[in-house]
Amino acid sequence: MVFVGHWHSRPVTISVKPNCLTVSVDDPQEAMVFSYDYAGRMWTALIDRISYRRGLDGKIIAKWQTTARERERRWLPPSEAAWVEQQAHQTAETLYHAILAGSATLGEPLPPAGHLVFERVIAFDAERSRQDVAQYHRVYKPVGILPPDQYMAVVLQATEGCSFNSCTFCTFYRDRPFRIKRPAEFRAHAQAVRDFLGPGLSLRRTLFLGDANALVTPMPLLLQIFDQVHAVYDVNSLGGVYAFLDGFSGERKTVADYQALAAKGLKRVYIGMESGNEALLRFLNKPSMSAEVVHTVKAMKAGGVAVGVIVLLGAGGHEYATQHVADTIRVLNEMPFDADDIVYFSELIADEAMEYTQAAYQAQLRPLTSLERIAQGEDIEAGLQFEEGQGIPHISRYDIREFVY
Ligand code: SF4
Repeated sequence: MVFVGHWHSRPVTISVKPNCLTVSVDDPQEAMVFSYDYAGRMWTALIDRISYRRGLDGKIIAKWQTTARERERRWLPPSEAAWVEQQAHQTAETLYHAILAGSATLGEPLPPAGHLVFERVIAFDAERSRQDVAQYHRVYKPVGILPPDQYMAVVLQATEGCSFNSCTFCTFYRDRPFRIKRPAEFRAHAQAVRDFLGPGLSLRRTLFLGDANALVTPMPLLLQIFDQVHAVYDVNSLGGVYAFLDGFSGERKTVADYQALAAKGLKRVYIGMESGNEALLRFLNKPSMSAEVVHTVKAMKAGGVAVGVIVLLGAGGHEYATQHVADTIRVLNEMPFDADDIVYFSELIADEAMEYTQAAYQAQLRPLTSLERIAQGEDIEAGLQFEEGQGIPHISRYDIREFVY
């Protein structure tokens, strides 16, 4: 339901959607737009052409386009994040009070759901936000990374950490030993996540089994984990279950295993293949080789589970580039993709904390610039061929710097 009106001679638009509230205040210069979940948390904001997104951990990322139309981003320090949240809170509060007082006029009166969500947004003040973030940290270990199409998932940490933790370009789980939760512990976690999200659950679109390699869990235990997910959540209405898995562990599961998991709601599995080139995979200390990934993808597809395959752009610098492109095209073309699948191109963003950076320096690799990495993705995409009549997978960028949960 959309409500259009005026406030201090400025046009306002209030959108009461089934999953969130959006408030837009036009200004002679620029519109301000804020959205909130049904628990009252600020979700997104647009102020002075800069878009902001708040994670459930209270951190806020700012994104904008440069004059050269390049995408830029930065994580706000706490004081700036608090300022954005305050703008979102204050706008909703003053607008709502103006509506109640009659100094803001709407074409139609707000329905009860609109009043309810405004009241929740107003109750979600700075102190409530601090408590919410503290609760988030009681419920979750840090959520390292998600595929971009899963940023709005409900993350459930069935496992913690990564069972390999060996890839030289990855620092997400270095501080966390791998472990699999027992069903009772997992169920308590799933309930705690549900209670934490509260009415904000309505904004969430899917369920994501974390952390990095949750599906490595042996089948009897994994099926129990899925049963616990069903016991706490309406899996179908939330759009099913998604997870990461490495190609090496994925190969150990059979088509029948994937069928059983699909029957329990598993929709898509994301595999960080990184490259089709074996020498580069060894250099990256990646546990799985490309043939294992192809085998795993075929088993998943045969079992009725979609895949998301991630390719690392710029890995191995100029020295590996030609073979990285050629072998990645060859291996991707062996996979039976259809329209349910995704191929992600993720730029390698090296930093000093990575073993990769040291190894690349010692091997005297010349890194690719960001434009060269993007061009590498375009070269790979240009070589892909898909089976006629099967549909084409979605091909997309995966920028880990923009990850927010
Ligand atoms: S398997 Fe994935 S999560 Fe684990 S270390 Fe490698 S890239 Fe990181």
